[in-house]
Amino acid sequence: MELNQLTIKDAHEGLVRRDYSSRELVQAALDGIKKLEPKLNAFITVSDEAALAQADKADKKIKRGEPLEAVTGLPIGIKDLLVTEGIRTTAGSKILERYQPVYTATAVDRLIKAGAVIVGKTNCDEFGMGASGENSAYGPTKNPWDLRRVPGGSSSGSAAAVASGECLLALGTDTGGSIRQPASFCNLVGLKPTYGRVSRYGLISLASSLDQIGIFTRTIEDCAAVLKIIAGQDPNDSTSVKKAVPNYSAEFESDPPTLRLGVPKEYFVPGMDPEVEQITRTAIKKLTELGFSVEEISLPHTPQALAVYYLILPAEASSNLARYDGIRYGLSVEAGAKTLDDVYKKSRKAGFGPEVKRRIMLGTYVLSAGYYDAYYRKAQQVRTLIIEDFQRAFERVDLIITPTSPTPAFALGEKYEDPLTMYLSDIFTVSANIAGLPGLSLPAGFAKGLPVGIQIMASHFQEDKILALAHAYQKETQYYKQTPKT
Ligand code: GLN
Repeated sequence: MELNQLTIKDAHEGLVRRDYSSRELVQAALDGIKKLEPKLNAFITVSDEAALAQADKADKKIKRGEPLEAVTGLPIGIKDLLVTEGIRTTAGSKILERYQPVYTATAVDRLIKAGAVIVGKTNCDEFGMGASGENSAYGPTKNPWDLRRVPGGSSSGSAAAVASGECLLALGTDTGGSIRQPASFCNLVGLKPTYGRVSRYGLISLASSLDQIGIFTRTIEDCAAVLKIIAGQDPNDSTSVKKAVPNYSAEFESDPPTLRLGVPKEYFVPGMDPEVEQITRTAIKKLTELGFSVEEISLPHTPQALAVYYLILPAEASSNLARYDGIRYGLSVEAGAKTLDDVYKKSRKAGFGPEVKRRIMLGTYVLSAGYYDAYYRKAQQVRTLIIEDFQRAFERVDLIITPTSPTPAFALGEKYEDPLTMYLSDIFTVSANIAGLPGLSLPAGFAKGLPVGIQIMASHFQEDKILALAHAYQKETQYYKQTPKT
């Protein structure tokens, strides 16, 4: 049996039956990492010794016959934008190359408490800024489906690691699509929960009003099981919401509920890959055949979403990243500095990569006196219009179906020199963050051998509906069973 390609559900059942131990599962993941990392570069830090010690702890629990949680003893990867006590956390940046956090992000902590075993910290675009993984200071991650292509970003390493079997699940972060787009490029299920559903405590902030932690798995059942563990209020994050966490898996055995689906006409744009459009339309047809009602809807401010996102994100990022000053965190360049200001400048110049600098400049500009009203305030006003579009839509339908990304995985280097084209790959994903809505990408087919996902969005805290629909679709299609050759 291939221990690297198991679903969480199968791995868990195997542990319960004692077909294998947690140590064997974790060792298989570590062997996979050893074999594949020279090709993929999905991890920045591998924590093999700690992982094996954790695995032994899980095995003792199993031997004692203690009740196990869905992730007990399973090897997991954590995006390097989530802080982990005792394991270096870089945010994909040189400025945090030697940063050792003194605490652990709540979502990660909940997985650890449930017995999950961290095998390492996954590669990502610097501070989550990117859609390809190429903006990491630790080199680009390759797509296991085609090593000449990007795995998507910014949670590039998390997606590549799960797709290639270097771990069985991974956490990522999604500020404008960084979980859903790489999930689509790597044939995975990727969920960005509602803003406030999962604590952001310990998530290194990119844009605080848009950021959310989420999940990469192979299947919908697995996604539901992990969400159940990481969701819920946290006193350390005042934006996390006190709302009961449902048992998302409960309904998978019965028939799916009656759900009305909407397809926004603005999400089929000129310039999108015709095969992606075809796959999306075929998926919608399949959902109709499964008995769901589908109607066309309109989200009229969709064309403005990308502009709104690329004003609000840099504004918030420029202020969040002010904390990296060479004094309190990470890299400090004092050589040749005469004043404190010099230390700030030299440290930031040496520590930040070009995309981070670009966004700090953009953000500082749109917040500056004289431009604030024209750019930042205007973007906030249009943000409200986008939110209202969704409110109106969700009066008529339960769920919204769209493509996840306008193209399948693109080639390494193809968009790197052209930030505007790179930003365009976020066109279908940013709106969910702008409105704080949950969104999930799930495998829906292949274009010239490359995976393509579709996106399902719901109103706030309706992850249960998304998962119910996705589960019904997955059962009929089973694209998730295909794995890359790498
Ligand atoms: N690609 C988007 C960006 O570059 C999304 C990033 C994210 O979700 N972290 O901002």
